[in-house]
Amino acid sequence: MPETEGKEEAQIRGSIKKKSLPDAETFSQGILSGNIVLLSRAITLVESTLPSHQELAEAILEKCLPHSGKSIRVGITGIPGVGKSTFIESFGNHLIEQGRKIAVLAVDPTSQLSKGSILGDKTRMEILSRKKEAFIRPSPSGDSLGGVARKTRETIFLCEAAGFDTILVETVGVGQSETAVNSMVDIFLLLLIAGAGDELQGIKRGIMEMADLIAITKADGENTARANRAKAETISAVHFLPAHESGIKTEVRTCSAVTGEGISEIWTEILNFIQAIKDKGYLDKKRKEQAKHWLHESVQSMLLDDFFSKLGNDFHKAEELVTEGLAGSYQTARKLVKYYKNEDNNLDQ
Ligand code: GDP
Repeated sequence: MPETEGKEEAQIRGSIKKKSLPDAETFSQGILSGNIVLLSRAITLVESTLPSHQELAEAILEKCLPHSGKSIRVGITGIPGVGKSTFIESFGNHLIEQGRKIAVLAVDPTSQLSKGSILGDKTRMEILSRKKEAFIRPSPSGDSLGGVARKTRETIFLCEAAGFDTILVETVGVGQSETAVNSMVDIFLLLLIAGAGDELQGIKRGIMEMADLIAITKADGENTARANRAKAETISAVHFLPAHESGIKTEVRTCSAVTGEGISEIWTEILNFIQAIKDKGYLDKKRKEQAKHWLHESVQSMLLDDFFSKLGNDFHKAEELVTEGLAGSYQTARKLVKYYKNEDNNLDQ
């Protein structure tokens, strides 16, 4: 056989090999030994819509799940421009100095529209992204918020199995994404800027209520005095909010990602909070409730997906009848569900 043919064959074999995926056991062993390439590929499978990928992702997750759960999971929110990525860069580097391994993930509902995530972007965290103790992954895109959040939650488990002991989940301080992130983390940190006013910051009362810890960012230079005033105002605002189920009062701090001032104190606050909720048995309870929440959430979304894919155009027809006032919403819903459950074969009755 001429040598060139042999080379060609080897190339073809190589490309086939590249396309064929390792099995779940190889994946999970690799992830457990801290193999970042396999971790990234497994996350891609979690994010994939291909049924064969989903099946493999489920098998990998099943093997990794018993090795997960040992990290501190921190949610970080704040409007664009508040300084999230600069904070994570500085905070993440501080954590690495403390000997921790961090994974930075993101839940970005806007990635649905832009088809690309503005959060968890490596170029925004340049120094951190070059460290081997840090793993940065942008938000999955092209899915509903529920879908994005589920995938991020599963990614948390994979990162934990790979040995990351601190997970930072970034999200933007608008809309529903905070609620989704809050249902996958142990502590929720809200970043605020001094002097922008609540309305300007798009901070809804609900988000303030959700926060376990608040940090006023950019407390440096001329902004220091304003940041301190904002801290005092925020402390009094928090005072009027209902108490957390954990029974722990929301602390308010100032920090500067530029000077590094206040960064280590925020980490100390987080450690204190985690210790306090552990002591009360609340951390365990919270994680169990989160698992239950995601079970409910997943059943709902699976059933709805199945419902809409089965009903297809029939649903749109029913929708038109309801909007035209020709049929009642509740009655139509009942008919549709009966039809979906095969209890009724005719929708026109
Ligand atoms: P994000 O959109 O919330 O991720 O915000 P960025 O981290 O991109 O920060 C927005 C702007 O604020 C950038 O121009 C940063 O340089 C600046 N910034 C962020 N943190 C600080 C800080 O601690 N001090 C000062 N002075 N500027 C900061």
